[in-house]
Amino acid sequence: MPRTLTRRSRKFMHFFLFAGLATSLLTACQPSVEDSRGQGPLRVQVPITKTQTGEYELQNLTLDTLSDLKTLFGKAARFFLEPGIFQGKLVGKSPAIQFMRNSSGVYIAKDALSLQMLTLYAHFERLMKQDQALGIDSILSWPRQVAVDAQVKPGTGSLENNALYSGENDIFIFVPYRLEGLPLMVNGGVVAHEHFHAYFQKLFIDPIKNEYPSVAGLQPHKTQLETATSDEEIPNAKVDLPAAYHSVLLRGLNEGLADVWGWLYSGDVNFVRKSLPQEKSTRRLDLPVNSFVSSDQLAKMVEGTQDNNQVGLSYAIGNLYARLIKGLIDQRVKEISLQKGKEKDQVFAEVRIEAQKALIKSLPLIRSEYLAASTQKSLLAPSEFIEIYLTQLQGPVTRAECDDLKKRVGVLSEKRKELLCGSSF
Ligand SMILES: [Zn+2]
Repeated sequence: MPRTLTRRSRKFMHFFLFAGLATSLLTACQPSVEDSRGQGPLRVQVPITKTQTGEYELQNLTLDTLSDLKTLFGKAARFFLEPGIFQGKLVGKSPAIQFMRNSSGVYIAKDALSLQMLTLYAHFERLMKQDQALGIDSILSWPRQVAVDAQVKPGTGSLENNALYSGENDIFIFVPYRLEGLPLMVNGGVVAHEHFHAYFQKLFIDPIKNEYPSVAGLQPHKTQLETATSDEEIPNAKVDLPAAYHSVLLRGLNEGLADVWGWLYSGDVNFVRKSLPQEKSTRRLDLPVNSFVSSDQLAKMVEGTQDNNQVGLSYAIGNLYARLIKGLIDQRVKEISLQKGKEKDQVFAEVRIEAQKALIKSLPLIRSEYLAASTQKSLLAPSEFIEIYLTQLQGPVTRAECDDLKKRVGVLSEKRKELLCGSSF
């Protein structure tokens, strides 16, 4: 998920929030019932964001899918501690969650790691329910496999302070978190970001990875468990510009859409920074895009970037995608709430679902466009995805969205400009 892995020990306000939550819940409740297991539905107390504010607060939630609270096993997720890969499968110990039950029957985690894992389970259950509502849950297999406290060795040393998705093994990996921010397992935006990568894997990468081996390396993260791996396979721009160009563009698309997914789930426009303060503002979504990137501009950027900086360039492209799509979603919410005289929050809830469905439906379509571009040895325009996404929205493209496209993206493709903007474009 994050690009930088620098280790810093800086005081960070969310640590105090999190530490405060963990200790306050231990002191506030009476440990009236201590139970070794529980079966859903269970009431649990976890820090979670209030809708659309992005702020975390302790809330009592009902978990419907947990069959064993002690090992956190349920329909939504399965956890593996000190994990490894054996014969292609994730193996590891089951967690042993420390908890108690307060006089209201709510289960409370007794230590920080138990609270983090319980919160992570709650996120996966909420994501599962969100996916069911969107009608996309059957694309993935459940329970989702989650490695916790994993030792990931990409070279020398082990990764810290990172969350990863391994498309090869279809597992989420949380390596030890040692900063003083919001732990990554609690950060709903981060969890939803990684969760989106699984959809990109299933709908874009997997169907073509054998035929087009270069797309297999499109995962933005190093993911081998317990294995020293070489750096990511980055095509050399001087030897094969189209391959290097598409590698940057598609990695960027995967990252940018994952950030949109993280924002839509958590309501937090700068969720990466809550856990990784060194990310500064490079990942925030609430800045307008004045001018999107054309294929010529991107080709020049790729040519002018050293191979080892191309992952950084792809994150920058990803941030452009994320901000442009967020701007289009905000625009749609504004316009519909004005037209229908409805509250923005209510309209946002509807538009969010429409946007999420359109994003998922666009993945196989952009894959076809990528294959066509590869066959013709041409460069896929960065704006193609934006155009496809807009055509997949349920409602018609609005006048304001069309104007926004003209202003920020510039030239639209011949084949879609009338569909998007009518004959006046
Ligand atoms: Zn990512």
